[in-house]
Amino acid sequence: HHIAVPANEPVMSYAPGSPERKALKEALHEAKSKEIELPAFINGKRILEGEKVSAHPPHEHKHTLGHFYRGTKEHVHQAIDAALGAKESWAATPWHERAAVFLRAADLLAGPFRAKMNAATMLAQSKNAFQAEIDAVAELCDFFRFNAYFLQEIYREQPLHSPRGIWNKLEYRPLEGFVLAITPFNFTSIAANLPAAPALCGNTVVWKPAETQIYSAVVIMELFEAAGLPPGVINLIYTDGPVVGDIVFKHRDFAGLHFTGSTGVFQQLWKEIGNNITTYRSYPRVVGETGGKDFIVAYKDADPVQVAVACLRGAFEFQGQKCSAASRAYISASIWPAVKERLLADMKTLKMGSVEDFGNFINAVIDERSFDKIAKYIDGEKANPKAEIIAGGGYDKSEGYFIEPTVIVSTDPKSTTMCEEIFGPVLTLYVYDDADWEKTLELVDNTSPYALTGAVFATDRNVIDQATKALANAAGNFYVNDKPTGAVVGQQPFGGARGSGTNDKAGSALNLTRWISPRLIKENF
Ligand code: GLU
Repeated sequence: HHIAVPANEPVMSYAPGSPERKALKEALHEAKSKEIELPAFINGKRILEGEKVSAHPPHEHKHTLGHFYRGTKEHVHQAIDAALGAKESWAATPWHERAAVFLRAADLLAGPFRAKMNAATMLAQSKNAFQAEIDAVAELCDFFRFNAYFLQEIYREQPLHSPRGIWNKLEYRPLEGFVLAITPFNFTSIAANLPAAPALCGNTVVWKPAETQIYSAVVIMELFEAAGLPPGVINLIYTDGPVVGDIVFKHRDFAGLHFTGSTGVFQQLWKEIGNNITTYRSYPRVVGETGGKDFIVAYKDADPVQVAVACLRGAFEFQGQKCSAASRAYISASIWPAVKERLLADMKTLKMGSVEDFGNFINAVIDERSFDKIAKYIDGEKANPKAEIIAGGGYDKSEGYFIEPTVIVSTDPKSTTMCEEIFGPVLTLYVYDDADWEKTLELVDNTSPYALTGAVFATDRNVIDQATKALANAAGNFYVNDKPTGAVVGQQPFGGARGSGTNDKAGSALNLTRWISPRLIKENF
């Protein structure tokens, strides 16, 4: 049953005339040609019950993709019962058979599901073809394959000494009970991995996705089914979050929460879990990745072109809707003119519009609520005498939720947009005096409650070491001379501390161990 070290799934180019481009265009056409019913999945059954809600592409909100049905309390109870019912046989399934299901899912995703999954992610979440490919195909294949490999390594590892006459062993059991996965809209791969990682370890799961991601979540469930995941192991429901929480967090068999989303919601859920702590059979595992206010800090000897490219890609790819997006930058005054020139020149080449035109780099933000929130931040800076908008600043929601990539230069390093997470295509820059390098490092460390990602740009080794040390707790993923986004599974395990989460590194053995409750067995012979 040996699983070899996986390779990262190659990202396809979608060049004009390529077969993958043709297949994707066909899948998009197919998806746009009809409204589909998006079922919940409980115990392997498709459920279309509850309040009917329609799903729209964020870049074309007058078009209807399909409908889902917001479920009730009943569906939450059914999903929990299904998860508990499937538990015994799934937990007893040998680890390599569980791993085989997810390895099959990866192969199906890289093959027959590729175009459909990309089309769903493009239309539901307004990602261009390349962003969808990186997220919903490459990263998700990597999660499945690397997690299977890491699980093998965990099972192989027996870090115990057995003196003569004694046999010590660890039995790697799943948690006792069921796991709740609450997942975000911004990455299809994260949405799928949050239920999949605990399931791989032998747990059964109730999965509550973001409503704006349901269209691609349904394709994930079809993929799991095609890969042979038994019914009831992962149950997908669309009941309102507070209703789900009210039932799950009062359930004796609630064993763990796997969460990606906002800091505020995570803290609220943690409090509810704490308030019910005497209800549970075991202490629930609480694993969450939350907000970020991720930085770029450039020293005076940094390469201005590298810095400009990192600002653009870090802040504006995926419309800045990444926990890891660069949203505050500190640039030394002596390189700022060169950084500015290159950044503004490159930004002029960015095209914004529908995902169906593959030439568009910038697509829409996820929904009206997000759009209004981001627009309000931009308006606030328009009225702020300490801020200057040097690029973008415009927005329009008549067809889709489009926000121009926006660069703000602020003379106040503690301004609202330097401190608060915006989750949109907005970058605020502070130009510091070269003599204030050390003070700037302190500023980077003290400005936000988050610590997810960050990047330092410098040439001098001593300066790189100094920044790495000074910012030891400012980012869980710290990049030297690279943008702070785009962690690759198997290469850069991802997660942050402070207000950014429990730092249980997605896509690593560290995350999987949270879904395992080992039993130690000592036997004398
Ligand atoms: N893993 C992604 C990255 O490194 C970000 C994930 C997120 O936004 O939650 O860019």
